[in-house]
Amino acid sequence: MPLTDAVTRVLDRVGTACSAAGRDPSEVRLLLATKTQDAATVRAAVTAARGLAASRSDGGPQVLVGENRVQELVEKAPDLADLALTAHLIGPVQSNKVNLALRALATHAAACVESIDSAALATRFGDRAVEVLAAPLDVLVQVNVSGEPTKSGVAPADARTLAEVVAAHPGLALRGFMTIGANSTDEALVRRGFAELRRIRDDVLSSGSPGLAGAVELSMGMSRDLEVAVAEGATIVRVGTAVFGTRQLP
Ligand SMILES: *Cc1c(COP(=O)(O)O)cnc(C)c1O
Repeated sequence: MPLTDAVTRVLDRVGTACSAAGRDPSEVRLLLATKTQDAATVRAAVTAARGLAASRSDGGPQVLVGENRVQELVEKAPDLADLALTAHLIGPVQSNKVNLALRALATHAAACVESIDSAALATRFGDRAVEVLAAPLDVLVQVNVSGEPTKSGVAPADARTLAEVVAAHPGLALRGFMTIGANSTDEALVRRGFAELRRIRDDVLSSGSPGLAGAVELSMGMSRDLEVAVAEGATIVRVGTAVFGTRQLP
């Protein structure tokens, strides 16, 4: 399918899901999950998505780019610098790649690390951000709501504590929570996981602690389950396959 057709379908899906949930489409941002796609393809997708979104009667979603691997983020960053991207890191990060990741993220107009899943990783990013960045680094706490052992993320019971660690660090700004939905065709199961992430966020927001007040984002929903995620309050949906087609195995 041509890229513009695929993007149009995804924008339609997000718009329809927002209407069905009675939500304003401006509450949901579209993150293009660009793993394995080269810089030229990322550029084409961002340009198409921005143009197609802007031509919609509702203005369409804001477009973000998400990379899984630090190496890919670093390699593509110079070729995309002119696009004024909001770039998110959405995959696991080894502590020895934190510096590289931060420097690449800093070449983009705005950045966020969505995959903070331990106090050690949070502290590592925070300490480096204080040295390298002019402002605190936006981060999300990744939660493993499905409990699947192959998935990254802190256990739901530990999410609040990790959020407080992030909020207390001068180099970090807590923006919310991220999860990968259960790998299941059972929609009710997937939905329960997303609802749990929303409860975690609402609990953190209602604590009234100043460092936690900005934790509004819910990054959840991918190609297979974005409608369910929007229904449960997603503010960022992360879409790869539905835009780029099935990925080639490396
Ligand atoms: C690849 C990926 C996505 C997108 O998944 P698709 O099923 O291709 O839409 C979203 N989030 C994360 C963390 C990913 O690694």
